[in-house]
Amino acid sequence: MMADYDAIVIGAGSVGVPIAYFLAKEGLAVLCVDGRPSSGQGENKSAIGGVRATHSDPAKILLCKESLRIFSSWKGDTGTDIGWKMGGYCFPVFREEEERTLRSILPVQRKFKLNIDFLSAKEIEKAVPGIQEKGLRGGTLSPEDGQVSPLLAVESFTNEARGLGAEFRFGEPVNSLVMEGKTVAGIRTPKGEYKAPVTVNAAGSAATAICRMAGIDVPVRPDSHEAGITAPVKQFLNPLVVDIRPGPEGKTSNFYFGQVHGGQFIFCYTPRQPFYGEDRRSTSEFMPTIARRMAELIPRLRGLTVRRVWRGTYPMTPDGVAVVGKPSKVQGFYVAIGMCGQGFMLGPGVGANVASHIAKGRPLIDPEVFALLSPDRDFTAAKTEKLK
Ligand SMILES: Cc1cc2nc3c(=O)[nH]c(=O)nc-3n(C[C@H](O)[C@H](O)[C@H](O)COP(=O)(O)OP(=O)(O)OC[C@H]3O[C@@H](n4cnc5c(N)ncnc54)[C@H](O)[C@@H]3O)c2cc1C
Repeated sequence: MMADYDAIVIGAGSVGVPIAYFLAKEGLAVLCVDGRPSSGQGENKSAIGGVRATHSDPAKILLCKESLRIFSSWKGDTGTDIGWKMGGYCFPVFREEEERTLRSILPVQRKFKLNIDFLSAKEIEKAVPGIQEKGLRGGTLSPEDGQVSPLLAVESFTNEARGLGAEFRFGEPVNSLVMEGKTVAGIRTPKGEYKAPVTVNAAGSAATAICRMAGIDVPVRPDSHEAGITAPVKQFLNPLVVDIRPGPEGKTSNFYFGQVHGGQFIFCYTPRQPFYGEDRRSTSEFMPTIARRMAELIPRLRGLTVRRVWRGTYPMTPDGVAVVGKPSKVQGFYVAIGMCGQGFMLGPGVGANVASHIAKGRPLIDPEVFALLSPDRDFTAAKTEKLK
């Protein structure tokens, strides 16, 4: 086989762009293709930019720790501001059951040396000025988590990858894979055929279709979520706030919001009933529902002006955990898909590990933990992780 590149990445999104960047950093000749006109036009631009390592799943913890390291040092390393704000994450608690849930995952978070604690109501009131005091029991605060602008980040990672020699081709949807027996030898787009010894599927919500082209079945299902952003106001809220109580209106299972580096509030909720599919029309119930929940939690948010709302998709897997690795049934193929609601925060950590795995034969994190993400795992007996 005559190769045009050392590696091809399908998808210039939250995950594909960092993979291209880190592969180029490893010295590989990389092509990254996307059907859309520029980087980050898939789900990356839907994300609100929350980045935390304080999960309960070990692989997510280690990969997001790596992402935090990369995001937080990006400006110093490259000179480009990507909106990094180390404001932390706060999960305030009003009921015993949520306190039990959050306290139950502290031991695993401490085992991985994450900076997180369960604080008193008074301390949470200090961290979240203006929060409803009635019934507040306390909550967790993880001050080293933070926020990044997905739009600024994907642009900067693309520019840096280009600087390292990576090539990007936009407006070129992958229609089929070049198969040589059970080996993926490259890709076909309407503009041509490109070959490489390894092709990485980082196609987000469209990842299952690409897997099928390689003859394997990995279940990734788009699950739609809405979000919005306000006009900027003076900074007063440091952490990204997550309220995991189900909403009294029966529509929401949790909601989260934060004030970004530019002063805007950015917000989102998880519908109690998932909306599967690619429908991106905003619903009439999103804004009144989230506005009520935010104003009840922090009454001083009442006067905010909403600038824009949107609806995007989480690329969901049956167990709520990403799928990263080499599928054993096909050669020359790698997947970094099914990022669920955390693809933006996982992106750089996944990128650095995938590049190391491809270029050096081993990931950066403990290989046994990395293997928990394997595409060969059994998805039929899936148990979704409690905190998404
Ligand atoms: C409302 C909302 C809020 C969110 N908030 C957060 C958050 O705070 N933090 C967080 O970490 N995550 C968040 N997410 C989730 C995050 O957006 C996704 O997990 C993440 O963007 C997925 O990254 P990806 O690279 O897999 O997919 P994408 O970023 O969608 O990239 C996939 C790319 O593949 C391309 N593609 C698809 N098919 C083809 C093909 N055949 N040929 C060529 N290219 C193709 C697409 O055009 C796309 O650009 C949020 C999502 C939503 C909807």
